[in-house]
Amino acid sequence: MGGINLRFQEIKEQEQQYIMHTYGRVDVSLVKGENARAWDAQGKEYIDFTSGIGVNCLGYSDPQWSAAVARQAQTIQHICNYYYSPENTALAQELCEAAGMAQAFFCNSGAEANECAVKIARKYGEPRGAYRIVTLTNSFHGRTLTTLAATGQEVFHKDFLPLTEGFLYAEAGDLTGIEKLLDSSVCGVLMETVQGEGGVVPMEPDFVRGLRSLCDKKNVLLMMDEVQTGVGRTGCFYSYQGMGVQPDVVTSAKGLAGGLPIGACLVGEKLRNILKPGQQGSTFGGNPVVCAGAREVVRRVSQPDFLRKVTEKAAYFRQRLEALPQVEFIRGQGLMLGIQLKTGNAHDVLIQCAEQGLLVLTAKELVRFLPPLTITQEEIDQGLAIFAKVLQEVNEK
Ligand SMILES: *Cc1c(COP(=O)(O)O)cnc(C)c1O
Repeated sequence: MGGINLRFQEIKEQEQQYIMHTYGRVDVSLVKGENARAWDAQGKEYIDFTSGIGVNCLGYSDPQWSAAVARQAQTIQHICNYYYSPENTALAQELCEAAGMAQAFFCNSGAEANECAVKIARKYGEPRGAYRIVTLTNSFHGRTLTTLAATGQEVFHKDFLPLTEGFLYAEAGDLTGIEKLLDSSVCGVLMETVQGEGGVVPMEPDFVRGLRSLCDKKNVLLMMDEVQTGVGRTGCFYSYQGMGVQPDVVTSAKGLAGGLPIGACLVGEKLRNILKPGQQGSTFGGNPVVCAGAREVVRRVSQPDFLRKVTEKAAYFRQRLEALPQVEFIRGQGLMLGIQLKTGNAHDVLIQCAEQGLLVLTAKELVRFLPPLTITQEEIDQGLAIFAKVLQEVNEK
C-alpha cells in the first residue's frame, strides 16, 4: 500500500475530535474530481462507483454544470421566498414536465421532501379524519423523526422513541395485506420502487400497478419516494415512468441538483394548491444557485438519448459482473446495482477496493454501485478490473 501519510492522519484526528461520529468512515479523503475519477491530496487516483451516494449524476465537476452554478453564484446567490426567482420557477416547470406532475415544492433534502409528502397526505385526509400512512418493511425514507417513523426498519428507530405516530408497515408484494390495512383512517401509501438502503430490492411492476388501483379504489394517495431511484438512475427520468404508473406525489433529492443540496415534492393535478400560504416553507428551498445546477441536470438527464445510454451502460455493467465467478447474483435497476457475493463480506470488499483505487458502497450484505450516469466505458472497465482483482484476492485469503 502507498501508506496513509501525515496529512491524512491530521485530518482524521481532527475528525475524531470535532465531528460527531455518525458515519463509519473509510480512510479516503478526496480533494478533486473529474467525471467518475477522483483524487486525494497526494494524487492517488480513484474510480468512483458511488457518485456521492447517487448525488453527482453528471459526475464530478461537469464543465457545463459547474459553469451554470458559478454564473448564478456570481449573479444573485439567494433571495427570500417572498420574491420570485426565474431559476426557481423555470426549474419547477421543467421538472414537472419531465415527471408528468403539476406543481413542485422545493426544500433541501430527501427527508424534507418526504416530510412534505406526509403533510400533504395528512391534509388530503384531514376532512374525513384519515391520517395514517402505510409504508413497506425494509424501506428507507430519511432520518427526521417523522421519516424515521416512515422507515420500515426497526434498527433505525431504536433509541429515538417515541417517533411520529400514524405509520403502518406492510410487506412489499403483499397486495392483500395492504388492502386490509387501507381502512378509513389511511390517507396515503409511501414507497420506493427499488429499496436502495434496504439492499437494492426492486419491486415487481405488477405489485406497483396493483397498488395504484388499490389506492384509487380506497381514495388513498400513492406517493413514490424517488430520492434514490429518480433523475435517470434507473434508465427512466423517474422509475414509475417505466412501470406505466403515475403517482399522486413524488419526492426527489439526491441526484436532482447534481451535487448541491435540494429536495423536491411534486404533486399531480388533483393535489394542485393543496397546501396554502404559510402551511409549508423553507429558507433555502429553491435557492437560485441550487436551481441553476438542477436545471442543467434536468435538461440533460431528461433527454431520451441520455436515458438510453444509462440503460446501455447498466447492461454492460451486468454483463461484465455476471462473468465474475465470485458473484452470486446482481439485482437493482439501471445504474443502481446490488451485487451479492458468494463468499466474503461486502464491507471488507469495500475497504480493499478503496485501498486499490475503487470507491464502492454497500447496502445490507450487498456491494452497491451508484456510478455517475455519465460514466465512460473506459472508467467502467478500469473500475471493474480493480473490482475483479479484489474479489479474487479476498477469495484467496
Ligand atoms: C437517501 C434517501 C432518503 C433521505 O435523503 P436525505 O437527503 O439524506 O435526507 C430518503 N429516501 C430514500 C429512498 C433515500 O435513498
